[in-house]
Amino acid sequence: MQTNGEQNQFLSEGTKRVKGREAQRINILIGKAVANAIKSTLGPKGMDKMIVDELGDVTISNDGATILKEMAIDHPIGKMLVNLAKNQDSEVGDGTTTAVVIAGSLLEEAESLLDNGIHPSNIINGYRIASEKAIEFYDDVAIKINPDKKEDLHNIALTSLTGKASESCEKLADLVVSAMMEIAEKTDKKTIIDIDNIKIEKKEGSTLENSELVKGIVLDKERVSTNMPTLINNAKIALLDVALEIKGPETDTKVQINSPQQLQAFIDQEESMIKEKVDIIKKSGANVVFCQKGIDDLAQHFLAKADIIAVRRVKKSDLEKLAKATGANIVSRLKDLKAADLGQAKLVEEKKIAGEAMIFVRDCKNPKAVTILLRGGTEQVINEAERAVNDAVGAVASAIRSGKVVVGGGACETAVAIQLREYAKEVGGREQLAIEGFANALEVIPRTLAETAGMNPLDAIVALRNKHKKEGPNFGVDVMNGKISDMKIEKVIEPLQLKIQAISSASEVTQMILRIDDVIAGSSRGKGPMSQGMDGLGGMD
Ligand code: ADP
Ligand code: MG
Repeated sequence: MQTNGEQNQFLSEGTKRVKGREAQRINILIGKAVANAIKSTLGPKGMDKMIVDELGDVTISNDGATILKEMAIDHPIGKMLVNLAKNQDSEVGDGTTTAVVIAGSLLEEAESLLDNGIHPSNIINGYRIASEKAIEFYDDVAIKINPDKKEDLHNIALTSLTGKASESCEKLADLVVSAMMEIAEKTDKKTIIDIDNIKIEKKEGSTLENSELVKGIVLDKERVSTNMPTLINNAKIALLDVALEIKGPETDTKVQINSPQQLQAFIDQEESMIKEKVDIIKKSGANVVFCQKGIDDLAQHFLAKADIIAVRRVKKSDLEKLAKATGANIVSRLKDLKAADLGQAKLVEEKKIAGEAMIFVRDCKNPKAVTILLRGGTEQVINEAERAVNDAVGAVASAIRSGKVVVGGGACETAVAIQLREYAKEVGGREQLAIEGFANALEVIPRTLAETAGMNPLDAIVALRNKHKKEGPNFGVDVMNGKISDMKIEKVIEPLQLKIQAISSASEVTQMILRIDDVIAGSSRGKGPMSQGMDGLGGMD
């Protein structure tokens, strides 16, 4: 490994520098290692990972983005792949493993092209052309769906959920599709989906099968006082992000009290200040208060006397959802609270779920707001179910938006790879080799799926290519039955946008990594993540 040679004389002592092919080799190695770490989780037969953090908290997951996030990856190249997963998660909500695994595979193909003496700029150029073409080819094999047809949406949800929520996929897919139907807004031409209108709330206990869809917002909270009503019809809702308590002085202050009268006056004054605050709420006409901060005993007392339901320490994100659902404005200066700031719901009630109180805000002003209330035996089960439902919500929303799906199980990747190889011949030259490499890289999806199903990956690829040539583009790896099947008949479908996003961003990240031919890790930061990565890899020479 060439580190501190003559070339580094202008750098401060201790700085590490790796150049040229060596730098590329190391970066590719790290990229591949990160992708390999999550490869075995792909698809319904993928395995789960258990990650224990410094505090001993355990995460068991099959979700690429979650695993990479929990792994606390330090190396900048590793971080690029973590961001790739994060982006996929925020853009589509599903397909994170796919994106990272394809990036790893593109790097692997690039490595053998480099070994064969192809210049990085030819590879980068070839990958860029291939990525654009691949997106066209995905679109060619895509199938139109009818966003009003529950069955198609159910299959998309199911494809996304299988392998993540064990036996309860059907149930959860039902919930996701029903939730989506509630929040979908139809205009003349399009269906508009705002997935922020779906809240996911978790309550340990019972089983996933008993999860339910609530039309409205559910909060894992209780009334601040049992003297408050448990149920209010025609709720007028105030959302506050100010505390309903007497603020202590900023600095240490002593109040000197010399007589019982003075003490009484002091208490009276505090009382009247709190009472004033509650009076403002009463005057506005509110009968329900959701407060982001605290509500002290005295305030609780006055609110209860006024028959107001109050809930404290509501998460900011929940307050925002409530604002959207009920039409309320979040008020941060109590004095400003007016009737016009209040939101509406037909019913606000506290109900016991598994022996613990939860607040239900039903039939809101904006009926589009819904909550999926997840139940499950343990924290881990319920957390993984939440991630799975989030993926499915993203996938179904994406399919509704674009109205197009592709056939999964590696079918679409195989079809696109075949078309890319044909196209590569037309391009010729060195780029041809890079485009062929890109095609091979896409086949990592069926190859990995075959592996997870215990099939021989090489045989599976050969069989798949044959089936595609003779019988059409819908054949993929049927992991449930360990054979090659028509995956459209098996109803394994995914949103087209998921693939487009995964391919284009995986290809971008790979090109960016291949463009680096000089890595300089400064010593000023001591053992920075770079120098650690280099040390570690230097030892592998
Ligand atoms: P990602 O994070 O990329 O969404 P998943 O673990 O959800 O990863 O796996 C998605 C892959 O699994 C897709 O390629 C999809 O086509 C495939 N898949 C899903 N269900 C099946 C099935 N029943 N048979 C074969 N492949 C499936
Ligand atoms: Mg998925």
